[in-house]
Amino acid sequence: SEDQFVCIGCGVKVQTENPEELGYAPHSALQKETIICQRCFRLKHYNEVQDVSLTDDDFLKILNEIGQSDALIVKIVDIFDFNGSWLPGLHRFVGNNKILLVGNKVDLLPKSVKTNKLINWMKQESKQLGLKPEEVYLASAAKGYSINEIAAAIDHYREGKDVYVVGCTNVGKSTFINRILKEVTGEGDVITTSHFPGTTLDIIEIPLSDGKALVDTPGIINHHQMAHYVDKRDLKVITPKKEIKPKVYQLNEEQTLFFGGLARFDYMAGGRRSFVCHFSNELTIHRTKTEKADELYRNHAGEMLTPPREEQMETFPELVKHEFTIKEPKTDIVFSGLGWITVNEGGAKVAAYVPKGVHAMIRKSLI
Ligand code: GDP
Repeated sequence: SEDQFVCIGCGVKVQTENPEELGYAPHSALQKETIICQRCFRLKHYNEVQDVSLTDDDFLKILNEIGQSDALIVKIVDIFDFNGSWLPGLHRFVGNNKILLVGNKVDLLPKSVKTNKLINWMKQESKQLGLKPEEVYLASAAKGYSINEIAAAIDHYREGKDVYVVGCTNVGKSTFINRILKEVTGEGDVITTSHFPGTTLDIIEIPLSDGKALVDTPGIINHHQMAHYVDKRDLKVITPKKEIKPKVYQLNEEQTLFFGGLARFDYMAGGRRSFVCHFSNELTIHRTKTEKADELYRNHAGEMLTPPREEQMETFPELVKHEFTIKEPKTDIVFSGLGWITVNEGGAKVAAYVPKGVHAMIRKSLI
């Protein structure tokens, strides 16, 4: 049977069922004399790193390995979903290894976001979360912003060591590595010489000029990410494709906004005021009276309030209410992985509802 086959590139067990998972190869590839998984095939022939995901267990193994090696770690987060895309365990495993933190997808933020302020915020936040990066960068792997600068920093900070690139799925790690690849290898041949000591995991090593390697670790699924609860076809609705356009809502007390059927915002107390919504331009916002909101959700989640889709409703987690008292002016109410609402004046009572397991929080405004 097919589970006897392993990829000659990376040694992973080959499977033909799921293109998103490790070791995928199409059936036709099994007829060949030497079998290579699709990920290694793409790397070999197109110099392209393909995204795959990983179980929590395998990820722990990788973290352990990284902790025991002498390497530079490049950690990628999605700046549109900083907390949701954070890898919470990493700081316990890094050992003495240096870390560069890259906030990717900066192209999605409205122009009014100040880069320096955001970098400072990322530094503070990292510290609170227990990580002490050497440097923090804002980048757009898709547009190529700051890639040269980061490539130079990687070269500087690795001090002749290997480089591990880590990040949860969907932060743009593959896109980032593909950009870096073009920087470090030009159009030259990239060899798949990867293996992961002690496991059968496929790890892609991109050779660097001094015999060391840039190592692409597969992305981990962060279970509390909003993207996890959204149908693949709807990811494009919640994931902004271009700069988000803030939408301003004037609300009276006891009014409610629905963001599709994925999140809900209740304005409870604080007098008529405006709320600036930062969400994907494709996500539909519905306004209603708070007293009608429960019923509206019961009757219309999965159709008018979508995503989620109708057929998902049976398994879609309930929306959980998180209450916040906004004391400071310029506060963001964050719906992890979906977006945020900026409140300009203090003195408001609000509630944010997100699917059970997803985080809602407040932070000092980024703008
Ligand atoms: P991975 O799962 O971390 O390897 O992420 P991918 O590289 O596959 O990217 C995930 C999604 O984010 C894709 O839809 C990319 O097009 C998109 N993406 C990656 N980098 C950027 C970026 O810098 N800006 C924007 N707007 N989208 C990006």
